[in-house]
Amino acid sequence: MSSDQPLLSVTELVTEFYTDKETVRAVDGVNFDIRTGETLGIVGESGSGKSVTARSIMGLVESPGKVLGESSIRFDGEELTEKSESEYQNVRGAKIAMVFQDPLTSLNPVYTVGNQLKETLRIHRGLKRKAATDKAVELLEDVGIPDAARRMKEYPHQFSGGMRQRGIIALALACNPELLICDEPTTALDVTIQAQILELLEEIQEERDLAIMFITHDMGVIAEVSDRVAVMYAGEIVENAPVIDLYDDPAHPYTNGLLDSIPGEEPGGGDLSTIEGEVPIPNGPATRCRFEPRCPKAFEECLQVAPPAAAPRGEPRRPQSRLPTLSRRHATRRGRTGASRRRGHGGDR
Ligand code: ADP
Ligand code: MG
Repeated sequence: MSSDQPLLSVTELVTEFYTDKETVRAVDGVNFDIRTGETLGIVGESGSGKSVTARSIMGLVESPGKVLGESSIRFDGEELTEKSESEYQNVRGAKIAMVFQDPLTSLNPVYTVGNQLKETLRIHRGLKRKAATDKAVELLEDVGIPDAARRMKEYPHQFSGGMRQRGIIALALACNPELLICDEPTTALDVTIQAQILELLEEIQEERDLAIMFITHDMGVIAEVSDRVAVMYAGEIVENAPVIDLYDDPAHPYTNGLLDSIPGEEPGGGDLSTIEGEVPIPNGPATRCRFEPRCPKAFEECLQVAPPAAAPRGEPRRPQSRLPTLSRRHATRRGRTGASRRRGHGGDR
């Protein structure tokens, strides 16, 4: 496949949940591309539809949810929305892998970390016992787990939060995926460990030319990891721009609100400014701007027409264009130093 072609193209994705009381349109007409080697950050407050977008791509929307017929999810030249569950099993894990917020839900507590890795390698890559063991140790080393051969024999509860998340990343990489979806992978971790995991993801991405879809509600983390950012609000992408353009010149008032709520970024260093009000839960197609009730720039038309979907701004890909200044400022605030950035930093067991 030509490298100009996106690895993943999501077009007019609509995902709904049907309950006795109502229809929830969790994702409403979402469009974005991700290219090989690129990180697309998806940011928005809780309830914006980020996780449902990820689950839709993974084919993991459970009843009473449904990806609607007009949606298209093209991956590596194939239309995923047309796949049966058994066909999807060859995509999930093998081509697209996912890392969730809570590592304990992704690791089975009754098996050792090594066994879980070996099992995945045996089933999905057909490796025999010895080859699977060697590969499992190699994967744990790749994700910066010291003394990997010994730690293979430990259970998830014997790992610290950061080490567990490394274990999950190793499991996600076991089948050599082309796309890694990370859904708030560092939200449950303290800031030093978070910085180490972000560093690890960046290294892995470079080594493997991985595409990464990185979901978070944290604008500081987004600045650090993304090449491009899609801002999500109430099921819609309201802005899609290269990370530098997004921070330099935000186009949507919601992006502005999110930027103002980064601790320490507010003008004059005053109180943290948060956006008042809550993300609405859409019940059907938009008939007006969903951000209007919270928007400082709202005018009459906002009540009468739904704004068109945000077209992506900027060049398709500028991999070296992450935000050094902002991320360095964040890194300092997070206590991230040269020493702690090194992979496998001994402090975290
Ligand atoms: P985010 O990840 O951005 O915090 P989600 O994607 O989890 O948000 O949720 C988006 C919306 O979809 C929310 O309003 C949520 O209540 C709704 N939703 C998610 N999963 C379900 C479900 N299984 N049944 C009904 N509604 C759901
Ligand atoms: Mg979520």
